[in-house]
Amino acid sequence: MDRKNIVICGAGIAGISTAYHLAVNHGVKDILIIDERPPLSLTSDKSTECYRNWWPGPGTAMVSLMNRSIDLLEDLAFKNGNLFHLNRRGYLFLTGNEDYIPGMLSKAQESSRLGAGELRIHQGDPNDPLYQVAAAHGFADSPGGADLILDQRLIRKHYPDITVEAVAALHIRRAGWLSAQQLGSLLLKKAKAQGVQLIENRVQDVNIVGNKVTGVNLEGGEQIPTQHFVNAAGPYIKTLASTFGVELPVFCELHLKVSTSDHLEVIPRDAPMLIWNDPQELPWTKDEREFIIEDPESRWLLDEFPSGVHTRPEGLDDSQIVLMLWEYQTMKVDPIWPPPLNEDYPDIALRGLSTMLPGLNSYFDRPPRPFLDGGYYTKTRENRPLIGPLPIEGAWVIGALSGFGIMASMASGELLANHILDEPLPSYAPAFDLNRYQDHEYKKMVDQWEDFGQL
Ligand SMILES: Cc1cc2nc3c(=O)[nH]c(=O)nc-3n(C[C@H](O)[C@H](O)[C@H](O)COP(=O)(O)OP(=O)(O)OC[C@H]3O[C@@H](n4cnc5c(N)ncnc54)[C@H](O)[C@@H]3O)c2cc1C
Repeated sequence: MDRKNIVICGAGIAGISTAYHLAVNHGVKDILIIDERPPLSLTSDKSTECYRNWWPGPGTAMVSLMNRSIDLLEDLAFKNGNLFHLNRRGYLFLTGNEDYIPGMLSKAQESSRLGAGELRIHQGDPNDPLYQVAAAHGFADSPGGADLILDQRLIRKHYPDITVEAVAALHIRRAGWLSAQQLGSLLLKKAKAQGVQLIENRVQDVNIVGNKVTGVNLEGGEQIPTQHFVNAAGPYIKTLASTFGVELPVFCELHLKVSTSDHLEVIPRDAPMLIWNDPQELPWTKDEREFIIEDPESRWLLDEFPSGVHTRPEGLDDSQIVLMLWEYQTMKVDPIWPPPLNEDYPDIALRGLSTMLPGLNSYFDRPPRPFLDGGYYTKTRENRPLIGPLPIEGAWVIGALSGFGIMASMASGELLANHILDEPLPSYAPAFDLNRYQDHEYKKMVDQWEDFGQL
């Protein structure tokens, strides 16, 4: 094959977005994407497809990256007839415990201070600001910032399907979901129209001469001369980097997801993403408890489960599909495909969600058939991505996009394109550069972080 200006390994959302920014926005020619699978078929196919600009600190880097990414997503949606169904329904965090309200408030204040937008508080006073319900479709008419609802009547009025136990709700507004496949396909189509090529093959390793990239070797022996190699291999960025002697500080976590039919329409089709903020014990009957306690292997089902079970409607208005997720067991593993699935997961997620949406109890005896799948969050210790140069001239990385790679895709691809082309970089660039780990103070600081913003 002829010499290429830039070779990108990985046709997930990260590799495709990088190619898009290089080719469409900067006019770079002779870009080749190589993937051993069809485009957007690995992690980028498993996502819940949600986005939010509410992220914790320290510093403004995550909020700024997401704000920029959402700006670019909105612009792309606006110019392309919202082909990828971007909405702005928001994330609604709910608590049934008054003790959690101060924590909810201080986290909301922190994100707001970091640039995520105005925080409006609703306490049931006549002078309260207006609480605007999110539009089901589109993104232009819904507010930004967040609403903290302490007025329980307001929660019941707008969210009558939520448990009466809910005492407060935090509605994050610059948030919602989109079709990741349609977003990725649009970016790829536009990149191809500017000459980007995509081939199906496996990148074996990278040729390095005098600490500079000189080419890429494919399975089967073919060599492609190039001076720029982008590692966008998703869960395999670490393995791929190790073939040319670079150690990346990343690991993988298995994350599962259920989609199922809500034929009783317990979850309103126009609902925002609904998240139960509290740890909880699963709602078993007395008989079930007695049965579970008998079996030492099942007893953990009576333990306290973590906060964060969540759900959202999926598909168009006539769909009955809902997604259910709950990270109740974090598993750090080496990525294998297909990922190992836990057959208990759908029932556990359903029971956890019934604490927030009691109508789901109706499914306990006859649960709808679940479709279970999953993928890997590729992560750094502090849950921030790796975007920038590697310590070999011409080698670049875009990855460790954890559970936020779809929402961060536009700004991440833009950032890497700017690095490669030596264009001015945004203020958040150093926060995502591998070089950050050269700073011992940073490493020490990361060890003390408690909130990683992960759902
Ligand atoms: C259950 C779940 C829910 C999620 N929910 C959300 C969400 O709501 N919002 C959000 O923003 N993000 C979410 N994410 C995260 C998001 O899906 C990922 O961050 C994103 O898809 C990562 O994209 P990527 O391009 O880095 O990786 P991938 O999509 O995995 O792409 C990497 C590509 O590299 C290819 N590749 C690897 N090695 C080689 C090689 N040697 N040769 C050739 N090809 C190679 C692979 O075949 C693959 O196609 C979720 C993830 C999971 C698992």
